[in-house]
Amino acid sequence: MSVFYKGLSLTAVFCAAALFFSSCGLDLNGSEKRSKQIFAMDTIVELTVYGKNAEQATESAAAKIMELEAELSATKADSAVSKINSALGAAVTVSDNVKAPLLAALDISSKSKGAFDITVFPFVKAWGFVSKEYRVPGKDELSRLQDFVGFKKIEINGNAVSVPNGTEIDLGGIAKGYTSQCVCDILKESGVTGAVISLGGNAQTVGGKPDGSKWRIAVCDPDDPDNGTIGTLSVDETAVVTSGGYQRFFESGGRKYHHIINPSTGYPSESGLKSVTVVCADGTYADGLSTALFVLGLEDALAYRKSHGGFDAVFVSDDGTITITSGLKDLFTPAQGRQFSLYED
Ligand code: AMP
Ligand code: MG
Repeated sequence: MSVFYKGLSLTAVFCAAALFFSSCGLDLNGSEKRSKQIFAMDTIVELTVYGKNAEQATESAAAKIMELEAELSATKADSAVSKINSALGAAVTVSDNVKAPLLAALDISSKSKGAFDITVFPFVKAWGFVSKEYRVPGKDELSRLQDFVGFKKIEINGNAVSVPNGTEIDLGGIAKGYTSQCVCDILKESGVTGAVISLGGNAQTVGGKPDGSKWRIAVCDPDDPDNGTIGTLSVDETAVVTSGGYQRFFESGGRKYHHIINPSTGYPSESGLKSVTVVCADGTYADGLSTALFVLGLEDALAYRKSHGGFDAVFVSDDGTITITSGLKDLFTPAQGRQFSLYED
């Protein structure tokens, strides 16, 4: 069995070297620039901040990331999420840091008719994505676990959250986006002129670049994620989040099994997509939606957009076809030799 976990080797090197890396200085236009890397949420978080309050703002942002990781992680025993999961059905009082992504997750769950469902955690564990002891569970095991899965089982009253005994939640599909949104809110309040935060497949920007040009965010080639891109998005202030089967998977018996689960089967989703990149003003929704649309597949994802709107997307289908939605018409530049089709509403 072989395992591929994008970022693992980098992560290991980084962790061994130092937990924090930061630098400070003036950029070419004389604006204060602060860069910082943190290892959090199982990935390397990179912050680049411009403006006269950059240093203080970056420190506040880094502190928020660590605070959110401690509350939202499903694998840290003392996190709020773990307390909900181990409460045997009792209600647990959570902070707004936890309630906000839970409510956004439930909203996306109901709009996507359950394609996005944070109660998939028993499935995620059964495939070994938590223990990293990867395995292919049997059909019987998955069908037994199915009884515990279903976002409607989550109850929220004020800040009290409960799930039935055996049901467990995992904010892995939305927590990074919520975190980048919180970080961007802090940076904006601090009055910085521009910033970009990258967390795994998530990027979010604030304001503009010091030279007035747009932020350019590359979209990974799912067939060559370490070196290749399928194109570039030129954006102002927004979130750009990619979900793809290539980001974490293992191979067994000549087959690949990735980490995004179809909640109605318990198996890794096979919807005909290799990756989905969502461009949305809100980081939390960008993240939840990228996972949801990946499970829905191209046709249902476009139908979702027609019904609910609020975002644009770049889809890479299993046959390599690239489809972009209309709002990205002037923002997406394909990599050399790549074609794309524009989905006009
Ligand atoms: P992302 O990388 O944002 O697409 O999120 C993938 C992560 O979300 C996985 O590693 C799981 O922790 C969790 N997850 C997997 N399948 C789903 C799903 N259908 N709905 C919500 N979360 C999921
Ligand atoms: Mg996501």
